[in-house]
Amino acid sequence: NDNAGIPTIKRLDDVVVNRIAAGEIIHRPANALKELIENSLDAHSTSIQISVKDGGLKLLQIQDNGHGVKVEDMGIVCERFTTSKLRTFDDLSSMSTYGFRGEALASISHVSHVTITSKIKDSNCAYNQEHQQNPSLVQETMALKYPYVNYSHVLRPDPCTEPLVNKRLTKVYFQLQAEDLFYNVPTRRKALKNPTEEYNRILDIVNRYAIHNAGVSFTCRKVGSNTPDVHTTTSSTVVDNIRQIYGSSVANELLSLKQSFPIYPLKINGWISNANYSVKKFAFLLFINHRSVDSPAIRKAIESVYATYLPKNTHPWVYLSLEMDPKNVDVNVHPTKREVHFMNEEEVIATICDAIQERLGDANVSRNFMTQT
Ligand code: ADP
Ligand code: MG
Repeated sequence: NDNAGIPTIKRLDDVVVNRIAAGEIIHRPANALKELIENSLDAHSTSIQISVKDGGLKLLQIQDNGHGVKVEDMGIVCERFTTSKLRTFDDLSSMSTYGFRGEALASISHVSHVTITSKIKDSNCAYNQEHQQNPSLVQETMALKYPYVNYSHVLRPDPCTEPLVNKRLTKVYFQLQAEDLFYNVPTRRKALKNPTEEYNRILDIVNRYAIHNAGVSFTCRKVGSNTPDVHTTTSSTVVDNIRQIYGSSVANELLSLKQSFPIYPLKINGWISNANYSVKKFAFLLFINHRSVDSPAIRKAIESVYATYLPKNTHPWVYLSLEMDPKNVDVNVHPTKREVHFMNEEEVIATICDAIQERLGDANVSRNFMTQT
């Protein structure tokens, strides 16, 4: 046989494909939560409440008061590449929402047990839907009830009337629970041994988004704990939130940063610690077009500006929000959207550094001036 020894190519099973894809997007509970928070913000929520058990490995729950999901969409909401946001490839250059790929809920549902409950405004009926690995029976019954729902992906929209709409849910329009994250990905599950570390990463994400979204109330707590670990209100300002989360020692030493550069165009907004303040670890909250991202290049550049002001081996506290034309920003370079690329990167970074330098210099002058008089 001529073919002997040549491996045969076969199509992977959907379950395998989905689980592999999910692993690229959801690395740990904090990634999942970031996607969920962004979904709540995309839905125009003003209240986002998070509950966590075992660092999110046992349970990650989010409730919001945004627009919710229509019952006829409940069937595909956890399918891959289903989205209410992006319609055409060209839309990518003008996206104003966090989401666009329709992959987050799908990914989470492929590596955990997801239950979604949604109630549209003015309806007193909430719909509950569980993601099940083997749904055929449920699917058949439900298909009779809701013929317009696509059941290809396993869901059980359960119309829950009054009893489910308990008091706590009356102001909640969307709730998602992800249980037993990575229960079917043993290597990943084993690597995430430390619930405390996972919880700290969750808090870090919530803190960042809470500070960047003054006007939205965020709450994050461990299941069973009465006192939340993060709690901001809709009426608190950015600085109120910084004070609440990072303490007065930072909040009292902040300089505001606000500049526009029409040539790029670029808008810089933020709060940065002054030359009197320094800590052991650089706290850097960076947002590009409202998305929490990491940029080693910007981080390094800012550190070097501060290096001339701060004692050796100490660091600043910096919250920076950059707004650019969406068509100059590529958010699709990293599966977790953790890094983004943008045009004129070097010039933009130099501009940011100048703005910070100028602010620190100014503040120094006024401080010296004040102490002299
Ligand atoms: P994407 O955000 O890229 O569209 P997701 O998988 O994160 O994809 O979400 C799929 C869809 O589910 C969204 O497009 C949105 O219509 C709906 N959705 C997700 N989360 C919420 C929420 N908290 N409130 C209302 N709708 C939501
Ligand atoms: Mg999303």
